[in-house]
Amino acid sequence: MKTLWIIANWKSNKTISEALDWLNIVGPKLQNSENLSADRQDIKVIVCPPFSDLAELKKEIQVNNYSIFLGSQDISPFGIGAYTGEEPAEILKDLVSYSIIGHSERRENFAETDEMVADKFNKAKETGAEGVVCVQGAETPIPEGCNIIAYEPIFAIGTGTPDTPENAQKVAEQIKSEKPDVNVLYGGSVTDQNCNAFISQKDINGLLIGKASLDAEEFLKIVESCGTV
Ligand code: PEP
Repeated sequence: MKTLWIIANWKSNKTISEALDWLNIVGPKLQNSENLSADRQDIKVIVCPPFSDLAELKKEIQVNNYSIFLGSQDISPFGIGAYTGEEPAEILKDLVSYSIIGHSERRENFAETDEMVADKFNKAKETGAEGVVCVQGAETPIPEGCNIIAYEPIFAIGTGTPDTPENAQKVAEQIKSEKPDVNVLYGGSVTDQNCNAFISQKDINGLLIGKASLDAEEFLKIVESCGTV
């Protein structure tokens, strides 16, 4: 069965109580997987909140047995030690199964380089977390061993102007021509109105969603709509 990845990137949004409210709207709906009519696809929903929400969300997911995975929005390129403010893979591993790495907001605001992205990817891998590496085009270097790539053109992030599904398909195809086994997600102004057009593309394996993931009902509409494609 083909896996469809739907990843919510909350960025710097939601207090713990807001995060729990969201989870307790979305979680019960996902438990009932026939809502998704996903007989063609195994839908994997991952939420990437701020670090400080992770522990409470993890407890709530476990207690309620929700079908939601947790991811971090970043990870330290270093290990345990004297790296003030960093979140190392060795600590995150108790909380997350995935880590977004190399988001363009980190490349732009925190001067992250391709080398740092590769170091972060390797750190995540060492502890068993799956790195979701963001690329801004087919020319962005992809770390060796990466299975999930998110194609996120900068012009489309948070702007309300998504790429065309046809161009996103072209980029995904280009990436897969070099790395046939990777999963390619699309991210950039995805909404419940345009999500189907992206995931209907042959080489697109899922979505990375920022703004539209913040509202639980809107996010659920996207998940439900993807389950019918
Ligand atoms: C993102 O930040 O990864 C993203 C895709 O944001 P938005 O959906 O808001 O464009």
